[in-house]
Amino acid sequence: MLYHINKSMLDDLYQKVILDHNKNPSNYGVLDKHTYMAEGRNPLCGDQLTVYLNLNSDNTIEDISFEAKGCAISVASASIMSEVVKGKSVDEVGSLFEYFHKLCTGEETENPVYQSDDIEKLKVLSGVKKFPSRIKCATLSWQAVQSALKV
Ligand code: ZN
Repeated sequence: MLYHINKSMLDDLYQKVILDHNKNPSNYGVLDKHTYMAEGRNPLCGDQLTVYLNLNSDNTIEDISFEAKGCAISVASASIMSEVVKGKSVDEVGSLFEYFHKLCTGEETENPVYQSDDIEKLKVLSGVKKFPSRIKCATLSWQAVQSALKV
C-alpha cells in the first residue's frame, strides 16, 4: 500500500510540533546569571517575550532561556530558536536569522551551510508565509536576540 504525504498532512505534522513546543517549551525560564537580555513585543497579536543570554569569551552563545506570553507560534518559535542558537556564534545566529526570515516570508532560500537538523527545526514554522500577519509572531524571539546582542 502506498502512503502519500501530501502538503496538508505535512502542515498537520508541523502543527503538532508547534503545539508540542508551545505546551512544553525548551529553555523556558530566567537564566540565573545572564550577560544579555532583551524584550520583544508584538502588539498586533499580544505576544510578549524576554530572552536571556550568556555569551562565552569567544562570542558564542553558551546558554539561553526565555519567558513568553503569547500565541502558540510565538512561543514555539522562541522554543525552537533557543534550541538552534545554543552553541552558535553571534555571526552564525545572524545568518540563521536571515535564513529563517526568508523561510517565513517565502523568499527563495539557497541551501544554507548549517546542520540540517537546525534547518529541519526552523522549517516547522515555514507555514507562516501563508499568513503574513503571523510572520511577526514567528520572528519576534529572533529579533529580541538580535537586539540583545547589539551593544
Ligand atoms: Zn502571535
